[in-house]
Amino acid sequence: MYDVVIIGCGVTGAATAYELARYDLRIAVLEAENDVATGSSKANSAILHAGYDPAPGTLMAKLNVEGNEMAFRIAEKLHVPVERCGSLVVAFDEKDEKHIEELYRRGLENGVPDMRIITGEEARQLEPNLSEEVRGALLAESAGIINPWDYTLAMAEVAVKNGAELFLNTRVTAIEKGEHFTIHSSKGEKFEARYVINAAGVNSDIISELVGDREFSVKPTAGEYFLLDKSEGSRVSRVIFQCPNELGKGVLVSKTVHGNLIVGPNAVETTRNDKSTTREGLAYVQRTALRSVPSIQFRENIRNFAGIRANTDSDEFIIGESKSAKGFLNLAGIKSPGLTAAAAIGRYAGELLKQMGLSMTEKESFDDTREVVRFRELSDEEKNELIKKDPAYGRVICRCETVTEGEIIAALHSVIPARSVNGVKRRCNAGMGRCQGGFCSPRVCRIIARELGIDETEVLEEKEGSNILYSRLKEV
Ligand SMILES: Cc1cc2nc3c(=O)[nH]c(=O)nc-3n(C[C@H](O)[C@H](O)[C@H](O)COP(=O)(O)OP(=O)(O)OC[C@H]3O[C@@H](n4cnc5c(N)ncnc54)[C@H](O)[C@@H]3O)c2cc1C
Repeated sequence: MYDVVIIGCGVTGAATAYELARYDLRIAVLEAENDVATGSSKANSAILHAGYDPAPGTLMAKLNVEGNEMAFRIAEKLHVPVERCGSLVVAFDEKDEKHIEELYRRGLENGVPDMRIITGEEARQLEPNLSEEVRGALLAESAGIINPWDYTLAMAEVAVKNGAELFLNTRVTAIEKGEHFTIHSSKGEKFEARYVINAAGVNSDIISELVGDREFSVKPTAGEYFLLDKSEGSRVSRVIFQCPNELGKGVLVSKTVHGNLIVGPNAVETTRNDKSTTREGLAYVQRTALRSVPSIQFRENIRNFAGIRANTDSDEFIIGESKSAKGFLNLAGIKSPGLTAAAAIGRYAGELLKQMGLSMTEKESFDDTREVVRFRELSDEEKNELIKKDPAYGRVICRCETVTEGEIIAALHSVIPARSVNGVKRRCNAGMGRCQGGFCSPRVCRIIARELGIDETEVLEEKEGSNILYSRLKEV
């Protein structure tokens, strides 16, 4: 019997497992896919929002501001790429100027530190590529950028290292409630638990319905993006937002922690699984972004992608014990700023479980550390030392990002090992560069097959069924 079963291992489930792993509890995390962070936590803007957007007095505002601070602390401790670069919300007309004043007031009420309203001239001094049309801006120094899937992976890894059990390829299909919960999964395996946490993202309403709770429904909303080459990465130094509208925070322009430029998203109603991009959607994103930063060179685009928001009718996250099932905690409808708020959501989930009757004793042995080797970040001396110990670190596989065979092997044998080409990419960046894996992915496939002891035709790009090679054509 588990004390707690967490359904879903996006950033919400991972942050909750990370928090609960500090206590003497038996924890299982059930994830439908073959890796962590394959839902919204993979495909988003990767911004740590300052916290001036949510309405004052809401739980969302509180968790945003607390989560921002916690995310920087956790990311630095667990070697997750992060940078407190600050953000600007730009105003193009009088209406926008009123809007940024309102955001400033909200920010003050929400406890956001280091904000001020600046003129268009001051904004262009900070960001020389900003449009001449910008008349003023809200500067928030506490905003930042992060690697969202490494953040999720890092917290999940620490949870697993401290005893939480992660079950991948385990889709929850039914939940029975008696004295305790019996959770049925696609694998046929059953899990018994005293408490259940619903962190299933865009499917959180489906999971909630499994215990008879129909209090909310998710309206999946897609956001489409451009990811531009590093040659465009220094176009801006801060996150550049436009004024938010009824569709969300609007189209932003930002560098990423890897030094690329990200531009997007729009907001279009979609289905739960449709991550396709459209010509019209991308044209809208491009047109809108050029209004803030007219010199962006879109011909440097290396990838388009879409993420799906778990929007609901509420302006709040849906967090709390289900009215239909005692012991069932919803962390549902976690839309933006869910990435920023995740660590605070995890901590709050712990407090709620205590109030719901779970007895929690802190473990003395909690190990809050994580080892990561990023070859390209080492000094020449450190590189030589590492190659001497393990010659696989001397073989560069991804030339765009300088990723070595040693790092790929480590990703395939880590605490939560990669099981696909994209899993390797998320862990050590192989295939993230300008050629997007054009050169290195055949070599990555070969290494995966060798290390996992499988045939190359069994190597997956991402999900089950996404095999890259189908059969052997001829021997040479
Ligand atoms: C376009 C876009 C831009 C965004 N930008 C930002 C931003 O810049 N900053 C910010 O703070 N937030 C941002 N967000 C919001 C943020 O990405 C989300 O709030 C956050 O990732 C939600 O995490 P989650 O773990 O709740 O959901 P997810 O990451 O979707 O995880 C849910 C998990 O549950 C699993 N699951 C689903 N059904 C089942 C089942 N039946 N059984 C088992 N497992 C199941 C899924 O496979 C998935 O792994 C953005 C979101 C989007 C879509």
